[in-house]
Amino acid sequence: MKTAAPSATPPRFIRIHPDDNVAVVANQGGLRAGARLSCGIGLREDIPEAHKVALADVAPGAPIVRYGAVIGFARQAIPQGSWVHEGLIDPPRPPALEDCPLATATPQPLPPLHGFTFDGFPNPDGSVGTKNILGIGTTVQCTVPTVQYAVERIKAELLPNYPNVDDVVAIAHHYGCGVAIDSPAAEVPIRTLRNLSLNPNFGGELLLVSLGCEKLQPQRIIGEGALKVLADDTSVAVLQDAQQGFAEMVAHIMQLAEQKLRRLNQRCRVPCPASDLVVGLQCGGSDAFSGVTANPAMGFAADLLVRSGATVMFSEVTEVRDAAHLVTARAATPEIARAFLREMAWYDEYLRVGGADRAANPTPGNKRGGLANIVEKAMGSVAKSGSTALMGVAAPGERVTQKGLVFAATPASDFICGTLQLAAGMNMHVFSTGRGTPYGLAVAPVIKVASNSGLAARWPDLIDVDAGRIAAGEATAEDVGWEIFRLILDVASGRKRTWADHWGLHNQFVLFNPGPVT
Ligand code: CA
Repeated sequence: MKTAAPSATPPRFIRIHPDDNVAVVANQGGLRAGARLSCGIGLREDIPEAHKVALADVAPGAPIVRYGAVIGFARQAIPQGSWVHEGLIDPPRPPALEDCPLATATPQPLPPLHGFTFDGFPNPDGSVGTKNILGIGTTVQCTVPTVQYAVERIKAELLPNYPNVDDVVAIAHHYGCGVAIDSPAAEVPIRTLRNLSLNPNFGGELLLVSLGCEKLQPQRIIGEGALKVLADDTSVAVLQDAQQGFAEMVAHIMQLAEQKLRRLNQRCRVPCPASDLVVGLQCGGSDAFSGVTANPAMGFAADLLVRSGATVMFSEVTEVRDAAHLVTARAATPEIARAFLREMAWYDEYLRVGGADRAANPTPGNKRGGLANIVEKAMGSVAKSGSTALMGVAAPGERVTQKGLVFAATPASDFICGTLQLAAGMNMHVFSTGRGTPYGLAVAPVIKVASNSGLAARWPDLIDVDAGRIAAGEATAEDVGWEIFRLILDVASGRKRTWADHWGLHNQFVLFNPGPVT
């Protein structure tokens, strides 16, 4: 384990809950053996930044407690002042789903917030865009290079004539053929593609490029609206209909695109209530600070959004699995709690069939960042969801229609979660990171929140908000929560740009395909 030069500032540590027998070292660069904490405990060894120190002697087999929750059991005796790293901790079993309490501790609604608005693009279906993008869907990977070629030419030759349109984005993916299209699990990628095309930032304009012979035919993506849309020959291009080669394919796509651009260019920003926001929360590259700085600040922002009437989604099944009993207790009704448990059970089975369990989630970087295991990661991750009642649950790829706090079930993979949250209708994304990632999405702005000031200082041109100030005692989670909330309104209005959008850092769409490939 490499550590930077230890800090010259007085030793600082963060204990979350009075029952905790570990705390996290907050000094940049960590602390050396012999350093004495303000509570009188001396360190027996060097402890890296964001890693845990034992606040008491822990007997073999005794619980390690953080967030007031058991994150594991001591594999051996751990003397006070020791570094409590992952090698010393056996994780506990996940909470049994059948024992989770159903809506037993539903929080009372917080006082509503009025008067917060953003300048968005209203759509005919009632949703509101934060960007104005021409999206070009694809039914199958076979069409993707052709569509990408056409997109480059559309951007160069047509887009400059339509100043109200922000971008042209190909919904490129690997699905569509060579798959068991009628297996029950195929519904997940298919509805994801359908709902992606309905994302508010595409303005209700559908342009879809099909090869012709693929298993995933356009009707299947478009769904019930198929007859109407297919009757409108401005919306679907079929490459195999071309009689004059590649040039004709590209010319046809560009001609259809220009009709869409003309309509999209009519859209303009108008003041909209904050209740029109659909904000997706996610974390990636977490460290042990994520759960004490960035995620609680995002949780406070989530509460402000819910109080404003907006929709806030949290996701990442494997990162909430170990906190399932806390989430079900918070549900508004027993039915919502049961819907949440159905998603947990579905994912348990999906992992079991793959010969894995939720312990497969933490990465080497998470562990170097001080997160011992998935339980510790989960307790910090759920802090993003704030303190309001759980109002709804969506399965992977489903569109979210409820207001308030919603669990949109997704894998924790950054790009898959982002893609599924876009399909759910997300128009703003807030992403916390401790280890750091330049992550971004083309379709919705991504605000990146650093869990530690070291990262924010190293990457000032990638990180939008420094929540590490909370660990340094320079700001509270409430202060940073308000900052995130106001930044969401500014970015959603086009008044400010995220660093990811500034540099054009846009991760690919990645579909979640739990079904078989043929
Ligand atoms: Ca993630």
